[in-house]
Amino acid sequence: MKKWEENVRRVIPYTPGEQPKGKKLIKLNTNENPYPPSPGVAEVLQRFSADNLRLYPDPEAGELVHALAEHYGLSDDQVFAGVGSDDVLALSFLTFFNAQEEILFPDITYSFYDVWASLYRIPYRTPALDDRFLIRPEDYLQKNGGIIFPNPNAPTGAVLPLADIRRILDANRDVVVIVDEAYIDFGGTSALPLIDEYDNLLVVQTFSKSRALAGLRIGYAFGNPTLIKYLQDVKYSFNSYTMNSITIQAGAAAVRDHAYYEETCRKIKETREWTKKELSRLGFSFPDSSANFIFASHREVPAQQLFTALRDAGILVRYFNRPRIDDHLRITIGTPEEMRAMIRFLEDYLSASR
Ligand code: PMP
Repeated sequence: MKKWEENVRRVIPYTPGEQPKGKKLIKLNTNENPYPPSPGVAEVLQRFSADNLRLYPDPEAGELVHALAEHYGLSDDQVFAGVGSDDVLALSFLTFFNAQEEILFPDITYSFYDVWASLYRIPYRTPALDDRFLIRPEDYLQKNGGIIFPNPNAPTGAVLPLADIRRILDANRDVVVIVDEAYIDFGGTSALPLIDEYDNLLVVQTFSKSRALAGLRIGYAFGNPTLIKYLQDVKYSFNSYTMNSITIQAGAAAVRDHAYYEETCRKIKETREWTKKELSRLGFSFPDSSANFIFASHREVPAQQLFTALRDAGILVRYFNRPRIDDHLRITIGTPEEMRAMIRFLEDYLSASR
């Protein structure tokens, strides 16, 4: 190692799911939405004049923040917007997890959390999910420097009832608790109504899943105005103009068209319930999913083998080669046609391997 390398901040980065180029695949590996975004988004893109790009965007993303506040019945100062929820979460780690004590998140969860903790040198502890892959609220009643978990959890899809979230919040009034609700529009109850009661609760959501805008990069957080102000202060100390003008306008249009996204979520939930029945019939088991994916394990055939067979058949799902979850596939819910094709393939493959 060269001398200068000793002082490099070296990190083991997060590994995102594959985005294969050019191949015609059934893509069920990164929890994207199989339907297009709201038509209002396309209209904004068509109307947008390139001349507007001479100017810096609004650093507060005011139009988007206001549209979100209106939709969720909040005031603008309770809303923070960022470049995908990854941006909002990364800033939240930097802002709120600054204690000597360890922060807590589940051992099986969104695999970016330990990356941010390592990047910022935040000590952390990871209480184990129970053997049905559920969060044990009692694990979060011990002393800590902050708490974060997704609800529904990823990659399990399992939901924590609001009563358990309340129990965790009641025991943790002195640290910031972040609930990452990337998948909440597909099931479970949002913790959003609790932000008035708990000034240390931050609820984070995204446009990448239910609003079908993963490519636009929008995430947002809800919380007490003081919490939001702390987040803004860190953002403005890092990069003020994170969201571009096109994104701000297109995102606001997507929020205003809530009937469209509710219909999209309804269709995905319907397809998910059909897929659950079919996977059970084929010998898979999984935690009951409230998200737009299913975390399934087959009673006979190893997940890695199925992952490869599916891939060879042009069907891409997610496989994590990690302890405790290396016999599971995370399957995103696509269109009914895509799910029928996957089930048909699995049915043939499983009967041939008997
Ligand atoms: N939280 C969870 C639990 C996720 O699974 C994801 C998607 N990878 C994100 C946050 C980040 O999504 P985005 O940055 O697209 O909003």
